[in-house]
Amino acid sequence: MGKATGFLEYQRQTAAECGPLERIKNWDEFLLPMDEDKLKEQGARCMDCGTPFCHVGRLLSGMASGCPLHNLIPEWNDLVYRGNWQVALKRLHKTNNFPEFTGRVCPSPCEGACTVGMNGSPVTIKTIERSIVDRGFAEGWIVPEPPLVRTGRRVAVVGSGPAGLACAAQLNKAGHTVTVYERADRIGGLLTYGIPNMKLDKKTVQRRVDLLAAEGITFVTRTEIGKDMAASQLQEDNDAVVLCGGSTQARDLPIEGRELRGIHQAMEFLTLNTKSLLDSGLADGEYLSAAGKDVVVIGGGDTGTDCVATSIRHGCRSVIQLEIMPQSPLTRQAGNPWPEWPKVLKVDYGQHEAAALYKEDPRRYLVSSKRFVGDDGGHVQELHTVRIEWVRNEQGRMVPQEVPGSEEVLKTQLVLLALGFTGPEDTLFNELGVERDERSNAKAEFGVQATNIEGVFTAGDMRRGQSLVVWAIQEGRQTAREVDRYLMGASDLPK
Ligand SMILES: Cc1cc2nc3c(=O)[nH]c(=O)nc-3n(C[C@H](O)[C@H](O)[C@H](O)COP(=O)(O)OP(=O)(O)OC[C@H]3O[C@@H](n4cnc5c(N)ncnc54)[C@H](O)[C@@H]3O)c2cc1C
Ligand code: SF4
Repeated sequence: MGKATGFLEYQRQTAAECGPLERIKNWDEFLLPMDEDKLKEQGARCMDCGTPFCHVGRLLSGMASGCPLHNLIPEWNDLVYRGNWQVALKRLHKTNNFPEFTGRVCPSPCEGACTVGMNGSPVTIKTIERSIVDRGFAEGWIVPEPPLVRTGRRVAVVGSGPAGLACAAQLNKAGHTVTVYERADRIGGLLTYGIPNMKLDKKTVQRRVDLLAAEGITFVTRTEIGKDMAASQLQEDNDAVVLCGGSTQARDLPIEGRELRGIHQAMEFLTLNTKSLLDSGLADGEYLSAAGKDVVVIGGGDTGTDCVATSIRHGCRSVIQLEIMPQSPLTRQAGNPWPEWPKVLKVDYGQHEAAALYKEDPRRYLVSSKRFVGDDGGHVQELHTVRIEWVRNEQGRMVPQEVPGSEEVLKTQLVLLALGFTGPEDTLFNELGVERDERSNAKAEFGVQATNIEGVFTAGDMRRGQSLVVWAIQEGRQTAREVDRYLMGASDLPK
């Protein structure tokens, strides 16, 4: 695989990016293409390690280690090194329906498990993945491939995020007649109304949706199942139903002053922004503007980072991102060995942009929010915070403890809550009688994906809780196989 001495000869390189101060002037994707000679070198770094952990995709210490889709990474690294792009594309599509999404937004647990990364820098797998599929589209190699035979079986998929789309794509390949129902006005779930355009251009999502439609999948938008159409109607009209509604209930921050104006959930901020951007290039003003404001983002995760980057593009005056946990270490700690997911400090695109603009990383660690204070008009003007430290309580659990005298008042006119999600909504489960697990997700065994209701399956965040695009695709594919087996008695769809 690759060049036997490649990992000794070539240094790791990732895709170049448009500079932070330049890219914040627009909403375009900031990752730039890598040229072919460089990609060959990077593919050559794959060391033929014999037991490639990069494609194992198992949970180690609760985090993904290796690719959950079991992408055939060493194979396509080698094919890219040898310039055999079309075969590389075929091998990539064999395990991943949407490499153009993962190649842009996946946090690449594959790279954390790469053998070269044990004592060097891992192979730049994600960039190679994106480059293969982007080349496939550019060369016109990716065309609709409708099934040759239809089975006459009908399947309804509720929700058009990566789980629903992957499930629909696989079921359609197997010849079933698939309809995807989506309550939003556009298809894509969080690929469209979650991840901002500069990370994943919505034209890239639509291009894939158009391909799926050309392959025979029907998409119905602006239709909320359980409200605009009964879920029982789907059961009546179809041979199976797959629930892929995501994990959409946002965690709130019920502290004093929460009712003040100017405090919003991150998803409201991000969704309105992308909708307005797509509808009118933000000309309709139908979004929450951060322009000229001191923005406080509460939540140090990826959603918080998307809020930072979006606020910057609006032209905010300042932006702070608060995190209740400590800063991660710069290098792997003894308790986090390879090939586990590396729990190390990540400086993501939004933080790079804030640092370039305001000369400091926007994140503040070990900070807890105490209360919001408003002005006479009922609009937020201050957030009162306190520093905390994590201590072990009598039951042995780590709990936050306030540091006396560390209170601080942050001036703000826009607060964005990016505190994660508590689980899926109730509507579909209540109507269908679907059992839930202890975390309130749909109860279905991983790999089996069937709920307690005959003919009703589930996939993605709705089953596993808020997760990653790569897991959603994995679950969508797995569920399609299980639905196919349910309908036909056996399935040729891959696991
Ligand atoms: C802001 C943000 C940024 C993220 N960034 C990344 C990232 O960079 N990389 C990454 O890997 N992951 C990221 N994630 C996580 C990732 O987007 C999700 O794990 C993934 O989209 C889950 O896919 P899904 O198909 O299960 O659900 P979703 O993508 O949530 O899609 C569910 C869809 O179902 C629809 N729906 C729900 N109920 C109904 C109903 N009753 N009727 C009709 N339609 C319904 C919803 O409108 C939605 O479109 C991010 C998440 C957020 C919130
Ligand atoms: S999908 Fe994610 S984990 Fe899998 S190869 Fe691509 S970047 Fe790596």
